[in-house]
Amino acid sequence: MSTETTPSAAEVQLSAKASGFARRGQPWFYDDDVVAGSVTPARLVRVLDEGGRDLGLGFTSTGRLALRLCGPWPGAGVPDRESFFHARLAAAIERRASWLGPEDGVRLVYGESDGLPGLVLDRYGSVLVLQSTCAVVEQSLDAIVPFVAERLGAESVVARNDVAARKHEGLPEEVRLLHGRRIEQTSIVEHGVRHTVRLFAGHKTGFYLDQRPARELVQQLAKGRRVLDLFCYQGAFSRNALRGGAVAAVAVDQSADALQIARDDAAANGLQGLTTHEANVFDFLRAQREGNVQHDLIVLDPPAFAKSRRELEGAERGYRDLNRQALRLLAPHGFLLTCTCSHHMTLLRFEELVRQAAAGLPFRVLLQKRLGAGPDHPVWISHPESEYLKVLLVQRQD
Ligand code: SAH
Repeated sequence: MSTETTPSAAEVQLSAKASGFARRGQPWFYDDDVVAGSVTPARLVRVLDEGGRDLGLGFTSTGRLALRLCGPWPGAGVPDRESFFHARLAAAIERRASWLGPEDGVRLVYGESDGLPGLVLDRYGSVLVLQSTCAVVEQSLDAIVPFVAERLGAESVVARNDVAARKHEGLPEEVRLLHGRRIEQTSIVEHGVRHTVRLFAGHKTGFYLDQRPARELVQQLAKGRRVLDLFCYQGAFSRNALRGGAVAAVAVDQSADALQIARDDAAANGLQGLTTHEANVFDFLRAQREGNVQHDLIVLDPPAFAKSRRELEGAERGYRDLNRQALRLLAPHGFLLTCTCSHHMTLLRFEELVRQAAAGLPFRVLLQKRLGAGPDHPVWISHPESEYLKVLLVQRQD
């Protein structure tokens, strides 16, 4: 089609400028980027550039993000919802085929990176947890849920739609059972460690699946070390440390419920040496410093301090202080595994903050490794938002 033709209801056309961004891979567009065809109602559309050339499929929305691209699709026109979702879901599941053991935890669908904007699907053994943050996904649950339940033999599919992003789409925040029977909690096994997953009450979709590579690293580094696990939540890092031969793990969080699970899970794994502290990490660190305590491996995994760009400055101060305090507690040759899950904090900026935190300390700090989320959270290079987790392993030299 040419620029003069009116697109059909199945098509929308982007402006020249937006088309340029789309060709470079950017997947998100706003109302005024769409120059022909309507973004309402929310639906699956074929997207055309300013010259009428194909840019693949997209989801329109009446919300803030008027159009999200889903990537190429053969032929012209728009497939029916079943064909589209089944093909995309099957491909995403196939990419994670090696993670489909009966007790595995894995992110099966990671939004834009899997050509399914606004959809996250996690698997915890026989339970699936879905998160939908866009209207087209929400309308298509009847095509998505039976397909994944059948394909993966799921006993239960839960919607963990208690996420603020849904507001922008006019969707309610809710947690509900979508398929099968209600299962409050289950468990997964990862790197030889069993972890409890609370499906309705846990953070995120029940577990921090994204920290898998860092948990493995902690297990590898822990032998003979005294470990401090800050912002430990349910103690997943501590269990890996103890499994790896740590002599002790001290786990700190402000949530009594999470710490109870940390203790129960350590016992269920036959692991000894865990001490938990219900405390504010900032206060705890101050007390440790006054007590001259040292640790051989510190994990620092705080919640996202910068939920928006506006909050970044305050967040940076928080990260810098925490990292400085943690570095001060390192024994000679001790490791600090430091993390940020703020979308707005770039890797370079995070490294700069750790550099500032290390400035003036009476020892050198070496950067040993950079990690991110595991390969089940693939980073789409054109979509930096898909790379939110940054993890650095630094070491006190002497
Ligand atoms: N490291 C965890 C995930 C951390 S999530 C894991 O690997 O599973 C962040 C945790 O920080 C939550 O459990 C929350 O209860 C805790 N938290 C947030 N602010 C805190 C504070 N100031 N002091 C102590 N814990 C805090």
